[in-house]
Amino acid sequence: MICLGIESTAHTFGCGIISSKGKILANARKLFTTEQGGINPSEAKEHHESFKEEVVDSALKEAKLNVSDIDLISFSQGPGLAPSLWVGRNKAVELAEQNDIPIVGINHCIAHLEIGKLKSKARDPVLLYCSGANTQVIAFESGKYRIFGETLDQGIGNFIDSFARHIGLGFPGGPKIEKLALKGKNYVGLPYVVKGMDVSFSGILTNLKRKYDSRSYKTEDLCYSLQETVFAMMVETAERAMAHCGKKELVLGGGVACNKRLQEMCKIMCGERGAKFFAPENSLLVDNGAMIAWQGILQRKTASKNYSEMHVHPYERTDDVSVDWCE
Ligand code: AMP
Ligand code: MG
Repeated sequence: MICLGIESTAHTFGCGIISSKGKILANARKLFTTEQGGINPSEAKEHHESFKEEVVDSALKEAKLNVSDIDLISFSQGPGLAPSLWVGRNKAVELAEQNDIPIVGINHCIAHLEIGKLKSKARDPVLLYCSGANTQVIAFESGKYRIFGETLDQGIGNFIDSFARHIGLGFPGGPKIEKLALKGKNYVGLPYVVKGMDVSFSGILTNLKRKYDSRSYKTEDLCYSLQETVFAMMVETAERAMAHCGKKELVLGGGVACNKRLQEMCKIMCGERGAKFFAPENSLLVDNGAMIAWQGILQRKTASKNYSEMHVHPYERTDDVSVDWCE
């Protein structure tokens, strides 16, 4: 069985094609970027509208397949920005309806976890999911993917991007902050905000902006301190979830997880507790169609041809999803 998956929750329009054995045949994507400023939802929607045909065509070309070779179509149903989500949903339904292919809607956060499981062969990991809008520590317990800790305000990527925007860097700011952080030498004290198992970034953002505006600190030192502080917060909550659930595997997901320092900190923590750590390759960490296609394969039993009933779920939570594909 071959599944074509469409991703469009936020800044990325992606199309991936995968076999039921987990062989990735294509993973095409187009990222909405800016020189200055963040994501404007209507501009992201326009971006997706302009590139959707090109991305789907290039995925089919890369996989050397025609639409008639596709057995199943999946799309990111939520959570995400409604205008972006609708573009992916409409393209998926159009392709499915015209070619009489069953379709299934996918939870984006769970897709990040399952592609990490596929690639790492982890059986029952904790997922540290650090992306633009989502920041969650997720694990499978009592029949569901449950959120053990999460951000109380903005996502970690949005937080990093907001600081990047404040210092004049465009979107996405994460990779630029990572480069600057490598040059930082002095740790500048910042608030460390872990509340129970949850984290919060808005106070740290205000503190960083004030420090930057005071011109008393080097930008590189602020970027370095930002990373050290918020990554330690994430690693702390992930470790506690592992200890609480007795799980021995950690999988990273989300665009911020491309950050080498975050990966290093996770590796050290896992090494110290005798656990296995796995970070998928960058093209599978960021928002992508291949993970949506793989999740389609896992949820193939719930696919249908009731095209008009396919809606988007901008506010869907990880623990809202019934899971019937895990042992
Ligand atoms: P996602 O929403 O999962 O595709 O992730 C997008 C987010 O990842 C954006 O906020 C980016 O700034 C962030 N990001 C991408 N690469 C890095 C990196 N190397 N370090 C930190 N954040 C990153
Ligand atoms: Mg994501």
